[in-house]
Amino acid sequence: MDTKQIDKEYVANTYKRFPVEIVSGKGSLVYDETGKDYIDMGSGIAVNSFGIADDVWTAAVTEQLGKVQHMSNLYYTEPCAKLAKTLCERTGMKKVFFANSGAEANECAIKVARKYAAEHKGAEYYTIMTLLNSFHGRTLTTLAATGQDHFHELFQPLTPGFVHTPANDLDALIKTAEQNKLAAIMIEMVQGEGGVNALDSEFVKGLYEYAHAHDIIVIVDEVQTGNGRSGALYAYMNYGIQPDVVTTAKGLGGGLPLGAALMAEKVEAVLGYGDHGSTYGGNPVCCAGAQTVIDRLNDELLADVRRKSAYVFETLSRAPGVESVTGMGLMIGIKTTKPAGEVLAYCMEHGVLCLTAKDKVRLLPALNIPMELLEKAIAVLMAACERA
Ligand SMILES: *Cc1c(COP(=O)(O)O)cnc(C)c1O
Repeated sequence: MDTKQIDKEYVANTYKRFPVEIVSGKGSLVYDETGKDYIDMGSGIAVNSFGIADDVWTAAVTEQLGKVQHMSNLYYTEPCAKLAKTLCERTGMKKVFFANSGAEANECAIKVARKYAAEHKGAEYYTIMTLLNSFHGRTLTTLAATGQDHFHELFQPLTPGFVHTPANDLDALIKTAEQNKLAAIMIEMVQGEGGVNALDSEFVKGLYEYAHAHDIIVIVDEVQTGNGRSGALYAYMNYGIQPDVVTTAKGLGGGLPLGAALMAEKVEAVLGYGDHGSTYGGNPVCCAGAQTVIDRLNDELLADVRRKSAYVFETLSRAPGVESVTGMGLMIGIKTTKPAGEVLAYCMEHGVLCLTAKDKVRLLPALNIPMELLEKAIAVLMAACERA
């Protein structure tokens, strides 16, 4: 049996995999089991920030592996402490809780918001408002947070205490807020899984002001938008707000599982001993790799992300077979005339790996994808939109 057959027989059927086995790669190129190469426009769903087997990241991870791979959170380790310091210095946040995934980072944020609200407003202020079409994770609580009904079916009862409101409708948000006793409002600045749609800045400003005026915690889920993806270090920075909690994962670890909840001054003291924990959270190997990701997200790199983004938006906006291009930075959704699945199949056949989000083609290339490879991939994608 080959890998595909073994996988089909023994791995849980939760993923509809493409008929490709990836065996190796370097940067933005990956190779399948036949030696065929592909330009990777998905980077493991915005995880491999600097591509596959990046030299700087690999060296840091390997060096830490040779020192200590794990010690539990009963002891101090330098990579964890240093990464928390860097994240706080770069964002103005005050404390970091490390987890292993985006869903877990969001679970932490929800606990912080509920404890804060219980202590400052009363135990009945536990409701978290999120947006319709959002995605916040797969645990039973983050599923409840996710504002898409089709994720909820057959998994009832989900964690209670979540309400949803449409994106970019401030009146509706305020109306729902007034009917509930809110602990927090949680948003993605760009809804990723929901179709790569950025929130309007007026809506975000209004939401932020309302939340501030009513002592409602603002949680920004930057699991996908964070760590340079949007062309800023974190996407909220493009909106001129300062959230109370920022969650992130995916690109933070650069390829190893790491999530983080960053807490602003207002909530920095909410979590005390025993309130939360994680066996692996802040693992030194993951943190050593993440440090090399964050350290390279400087002004120059972020400007380069914005330049590449502008190139893709400009090129695709006027391409035949493209109806719209949405998103921010190198998080791009493309509504194509042809079904997205057909566009993806054409691209794959012609050596380019893309993703979908809802009915759109989605691009999440490595932040450092070389311009030549990006141009090549966009040329294939344009051909696919026209011909697929
Ligand atoms: C991927 C994603 C999550 C879930 O992250 P996991 O690491 O899969 O748990 C949560 N929120 C957003 C916005 C995401 O894109």
